Amino acid sequence: MLIRGKHIATGQVVDVRVNDTTGIIADVAPPDPARAPNAGSAELFVAPGLLDIHINGFAGVDFQNPATTADDLVRATREQLRHGTTQYLVTIVSEAHDRMAACFRGVTRAREERPELARAIPGFHLEGPYISAEDGPRGGHYANAVRPPSWEEFQRFQEAADGRIKLVTIAPELPGMMRFIEQAVASGVVVGLGHTAANAQQIADAVAAGATVATHLGNGSHAVLPRHANYIQVQLAEDRLNATFIADGHHLPPYVVKNFIRAKGVARSILVTDAVPPAGMPPGVYRYGRVEVEAKPNGLICLPGTPYLFGAATTLENCVANASAWAGVPLADAIAMATENPARLLGLTPRVLEKDGSADLILFALENGRIRVTDAVVGGQHFSSTP
Ligand SMILES: [Zn+2]
Repeated sequence: MLIRGKHIATGQVVDVRVNDTTGIIADVAPPDPARAPNAGSAELFVAPGLLDIHINGFAGVDFQNPATTADDLVRATREQLRHGTTQYLVTIVSEAHDRMAACFRGVTRAREERPELARAIPGFHLEGPYISAEDGPRGGHYANAVRPPSWEEFQRFQEAADGRIKLVTIAPELPGMMRFIEQAVASGVVVGLGHTAANAQQIADAVAAGATVATHLGNGSHAVLPRHANYIQVQLAEDRLNATFIADGHHLPPYVVKNFIRAKGVARSILVTDAVPPAGMPPGVYRYGRVEVEAKPNGLICLPGTPYLFGAATTLENCVANASAWAGVPLADAIAMATENPARLLGLTPRVLEKDGSADLILFALENGRIRVTDAVVGGQHFSSTP
C-alpha cells in the first residue's frame, strides 16, 4: 500500500510504502509522480496514529458496562479511527469490585477473539478506586465506590485484565499508598496522581516512590483552592511528573491549557479525552455506568438536571488542534503530545513515521486550524473516515 502526504515532522511530501502483510513501514521516500497512491495526496498531512490513554467510552459504547460486547468494542474502535485515534487504553473507573473485574474480563476476552481489538487496545487505565473520597477531588466517581488501596485487590484486577493494566491513577494521601505505589511500579505499572487533595509532601513522597504522571491535571479537584499552596501548582512544578490534559475548552479553559503546557513543556505534556459514551455521537441522553448522562449541543456532558461535568465528549484530534492553537506550539509538537509522549510514558512501541516502524498512521487535512482526519492505516489495513 502506498500512502502519500506531508510528513508531520518535516512538512515534506513523502510516499510511505506499507507492507500490507506485516503492517510495517517498508520505506519513506520522496513522492514518485509516476505512481498513484492508494490513499492521501500532497495536500494532506501524514502522521502517526493518535494514542488516547484515558477514555471511558465512545460512540455510545460504555466501557464501564460488563455487558459490552466485542462487536461494541469494534464499533468504538472504528469510530475512533475516523477521528485519528488508532490505539487507546480502555479506562475503568471506581465501582464495586465484581463489576470492575467483569469489565476487565469482558474486554480481555474480546481482545482474544478479535485481533483488531488486540492491536487497538494495548491495555487498561485503572482510574480509582483508590482515590480521594472528598467532594471535588472525587469528581464524578461514586462516593461509595472509592476505597483505601489494596494491593491484593489490584492483583485480582490485573488477573482479570490478563496483566494489561498499564496505568493506575491514585490519590497519594490515602493510608498505605506509598507502599502501593512502590509495588505497582515494581510490577511495571505506571502510577498517575489524580482525584487527589494531597499536600506538597505527599506529592513529593509519591514521586519518590515512583509516580510519573499527573492525571487530567486541573480536573478532579476542588473548585476553589489557596492560590499558591495547592496540589495543582505543586504537580506543575514537579519536573519528574508528566501531566495529562483534557484540552477541550470545558475541562480546562484555553488560557489554562496554555499555562499548563508551558509549565510542563512539550515533552512532558500528554493530551487525553477522558471521553464517555456520548463522545462521537449526536447530543442526547446516554447510559454511562450506573447513570444516564446528558450530552449538550455545546459539547458539555452533565448529569441530567445538574451543572456538573461528567466526562468529556471531545475527540483527540480536536484536543490536538486546540493545544496547538491555545499554547502556541507547532502542530507537530501537539501531535507528539498524543503520540510519542504517551507511548514513551507507558513504554509502548514508539510512534514514528520511519522505515521499519509500525504502519499505524493517519492522514488529515488542516482547515482553519481544525484537523479533519480523512484516513487511517493500521495493521496493514486502510480505513477511510468518510462512510
Ligand atoms: Zn477522572
